[in-house]
Amino acid sequence: MTDSDPLNAVRVTFSEHRLVDLPQPRPLSAWETGAITRMLDHEPGIGRCAYEQARSAVTTAVCLDCPTIALSVDPAACRIPSLARTSEPRWGAVTASLHAKQDDVLIVAMLHVMDGALSELEVSRPDGEPLASVPPLTDFEVVSVPVPSRPQVHTDREDQAGT
Ligand SMILES: [Zn+2]
Repeated sequence: MTDSDPLNAVRVTFSEHRLVDLPQPRPLSAWETGAITRMLDHEPGIGRCAYEQARSAVTTAVCLDCPTIALSVDPAACRIPSLARTSEPRWGAVTASLHAKQDDVLIVAMLHVMDGALSELEVSRPDGEPLASVPPLTDFEVVSVPVPSRPQVHTDREDQAGT
């Protein structure tokens, strides 16, 4: 029964979107930049690399069903050390998320990281329904999402590389 497996639960949320590549990357909107900055501001120990990446980030793909976007950052920007150990997307969510209610429906924004780089701004309804627009940033509050305890998947070699 995979439903009770926290690994699978997180992975499904990450991959449910129908992202389509843009013909040309576009700059982030004010809302997108504000949402990312606010989550980083509430992430303990995220460090300066995340902010450097956010300043260079562009949107490379958008979801057909919601405001979720794929992010691409300057490859020369430094990696986020606290999340740089693994390329597993399921472990790459910044724990600070944004929650708002729109017509009594919960809307959640999350920031995903892969290989130590900002990779996706997910803005969606946890119930899986499409989401056409987002409320103003001022309607959102910061909520820290508990991350399931990390399984013992890393190797000794990675341990040494991270120190
Ligand atoms: Zn979506």
